[in-house]
Amino acid sequence: MHKLSAIGILLACGSAQAATQTIDCARLLDVKAGVWREKVSIVVEDGAIKSVAPMNAGAGAAPGRIDLSAHSCLPGLIDMHVHLTGETQKQADALRDAISLNPADHAYRSVIFAERTLKAGFTTVRDLGAGDGLNVSLKRAIAAGSIPGPRMFTSGKSIATTGGHADPTNNFSHRLSHALGTPGPNEGVVNSAEGAREAVRARYKEGADLIKVTATGGVLSQARSGQNSQYTEDELRAIVSTARDYGFRVAAHAHGAEGMKRALRAGIDSIEHGTMMDDETIALFKKHGAWFVPTISAGRYVADKAREPDYYSPLVRPKAAAIGPQIQATFARAYKAGVKIAFGTDAGVFPHGDNAREFAYMVEAGMPPLEAIRSATINAAALLDQGTRLGSVEAGYAADIIAVTGDPLRDIALMQQVRFVMKDGVIYKQP
Ligand SMILES: [Zn+2]
Repeated sequence: MHKLSAIGILLACGSAQAATQTIDCARLLDVKAGVWREKVSIVVEDGAIKSVAPMNAGAGAAPGRIDLSAHSCLPGLIDMHVHLTGETQKQADALRDAISLNPADHAYRSVIFAERTLKAGFTTVRDLGAGDGLNVSLKRAIAAGSIPGPRMFTSGKSIATTGGHADPTNNFSHRLSHALGTPGPNEGVVNSAEGAREAVRARYKEGADLIKVTATGGVLSQARSGQNSQYTEDELRAIVSTARDYGFRVAAHAHGAEGMKRALRAGIDSIEHGTMMDDETIALFKKHGAWFVPTISAGRYVADKAREPDYYSPLVRPKAAAIGPQIQATFARAYKAGVKIAFGTDAGVFPHGDNAREFAYMVEAGMPPLEAIRSATINAAALLDQGTRLGSVEAGYAADIIAVTGDPLRDIALMQQVRFVMKDGVIYKQP
């Protein structure tokens, strides 16, 4: 679906770039002011934006000059919910791989997922959960320039209860469970406030940047309920207060309203999916200033796949059919009610690289295109606590710049055809 271009390979490996680069854009979206700036030159130096000024028409072609004078430039996009180390599969294939593959197999496969994501215009992602330290290692490989991919912030392993969404041994036979042993805090499975503190500290040791907790059941875990509460409020408070000691923000996966309420009262920073939020939940979001990360794309994808008889297991299929179709309507209600929204897709639940479809789903549900783009730039940067470095094209920010043709504020589907990608001043895709 996404061909590797020769130039992408050359440039992706961080080959020498001119020390100073100037990007001439037909127009640049000022996401903070919410307006296009016409005919703009962006000067990039040492991976950061040095200046943004009216285009110098007399300058012409010169070394380090990048001609996007037929393109609309925007800040690099940020997806707040991805799983870069895996991708959707038919249940029989997933089962086969679970038995036969090693962590290294998954690691090599994730290389192409990272590259696809970057080339779709997503220069930063928040990876919300993987086992075996895979996402932490992927983050390191990308940061070291060994492989092309988005800048990653990652939770390491998600924290779950026994049998909960993200217990890696769900639905295993007794014999297999016995052979593998019971997962504990290191594997992110805990059942008490004390265990919760230990699991957060294990994430610190693992090299995570934030914490992900599964506050309710989920769609794709091999368990009956997709929405039951899986942590007590006391346990959630232990997770949040311990996370604060390490400077971690906390993301809570939740579909059911009760689990969301407990997580919001406990002080988590974002609710992922939020499917069954009621008015009381919406009020709590606003009271605590928490972010909602909708993942409409995942909802739509699993609802579609639930129509295929053998795609998901008999435990998962009814949950996918019941929960998946509700997320877009929940998003519409939350947006109207004034809940703060940060863009997130749950990529991996659907093929990596299709992240930008979420924009169209958001606009379809009533959000103006500018607000959808803000959710994936300044809003996401704020939730990452990176608001002074990421999410905007202005002096002092990281040189994360993308370009499309035409005006995505009029046709949001253009966000699915990103023509130019620069991250930290390195070009990964050119028109
Ligand atoms: Zn997820």
